[in-house]
Amino acid sequence: MDGTFNENDISRIVEADRAHVWHHLSQHKPYETSDPRIIVEGKGLRVWDQYGKESIDAVSGGVWTVNVGYGRESIADAVRDQLVKLNFFGGTVGSIPGSIFSEMLIDKMPGMSRVYYCSSGSEANEKAYKMVRQIAHKRFGGKKHKILYRDRDYHGSTIGAMACGGQDERNLQYGPFPDGFIRVPHCLEYRKHEQAGAPEENYGIWAANEIEKIILREGPETVGALCLEPVTAGGGVITPPDGYWERIREICDQYEILLHIDEVVCGVGRTGTWFGYQHYGIKPDMVSMAKGVASGYAAISCLVTTEAVFDMFKDDPSDVLNYFRDISTFGGCTAGPAAAIENMKIIERENLLENTINMGDYMLDQLSALQDKHNAIGQVRGKGLFLGAELVTDRATKEPLPEKTVGAIVADCSKNGVIIGATNRSIPGQNNTLCFSPALICTKDDINQIVEAVDGALGRVL
Ligand code: PLP
Repeated sequence: MDGTFNENDISRIVEADRAHVWHHLSQHKPYETSDPRIIVEGKGLRVWDQYGKESIDAVSGGVWTVNVGYGRESIADAVRDQLVKLNFFGGTVGSIPGSIFSEMLIDKMPGMSRVYYCSSGSEANEKAYKMVRQIAHKRFGGKKHKILYRDRDYHGSTIGAMACGGQDERNLQYGPFPDGFIRVPHCLEYRKHEQAGAPEENYGIWAANEIEKIILREGPETVGALCLEPVTAGGGVITPPDGYWERIREICDQYEILLHIDEVVCGVGRTGTWFGYQHYGIKPDMVSMAKGVASGYAAISCLVTTEAVFDMFKDDPSDVLNYFRDISTFGGCTAGPAAAIENMKIIERENLLENTINMGDYMLDQLSALQDKHNAIGQVRGKGLFLGAELVTDRATKEPLPEKTVGAIVADCSKNGVIIGATNRSIPGQNNTLCFSPALICTKDDINQIVEAVDGALGRVL
């Protein structure tokens, strides 16, 4: 093979994939007898695979990423123009698109001030963990170093991010992990019966107070940060109960704990506000983001902090170790911010936040209506165009539908030209939530097509 592939020589491309590509999150045995799926083209919400099969993509590139849809020539043009002018300069220097995008982003995030560029969600989270650790050393004699994370939340695939990860199946066999990451309970009201002492009323306040108990157990003087997803994604599309976030902020203020919100999935429009936390009227100290920042047109992630966090790293001539001694090679790649600028302009130009709220409400209603027909749908929940349907064997006991059956429902939809997702390989026995996150441009017709496929699949599989 000399690399001169003819794009039309599909069997050769499939063979090369089968022989050499190590797919993410995949068991490869099935590829011995069936072809790996290769997506070749996309336009709007639709994609075509290597055999020309058309599908509507209800999960924005499989992993909640392509917020503005496929085939955006204006992003491709912006990236091309920038790459020809200057593709990269790393290290300590800035770039024109980096400056412009930072100003646009901060404008959408009142109270925030500084943008640190990197290239994946895991990496942005790692930067935050490093900042917390360094602040602990600089200001608290190394003591205030612990980072709290929640059961069912996911923050990435690196060893540090996994230490901060509440999804056991992702972590098993990859330890040992670094010390100082402490697990706290989730806030999934639908499953509160599994949490000892959970009350009938005011569950949100109770769930936040459970975290406070752990802070007190560990000693607040040892806890540096709390790292949470605004709406938990792969852990089950968990929307926070009433009062939860407000109480979390109070707790962080009371014990001088930094609130790090992981907006890798929710960020840049997915839930109908620029950022998921903005639904709850709270101010974070650090925000990580990745997927929707450039809708997958370039690899870019950011860690955004307040000026107060930045100030803690201000120059101190008496201490040469004082600044944030961190780098990200591809944080210097200009394609990322160039794509992110145009991505944000599209969301504004096409009123996609408003569309996300409207279409999100419509999709929530349509999926909820399926509950009358299918007892297996225990709960439909979500925010904006970030929705989940939790499947159970029995609504009274809430016993999760077996993963194999959930997989069969996803496969049936896919066979019928609708790509949906499911929580998978995260929580053994509880990977039972179907996930929906179509691009923010979707219409009622698109949603009807997706919901019809789910309706059909539930009927056929169950
Ligand atoms: N944080 C959340 C909430 C995620 O869902 C993910 C990935 O799905 C990550 C972090 C990690 O992002 P990446 O895969 O870009 O490292």
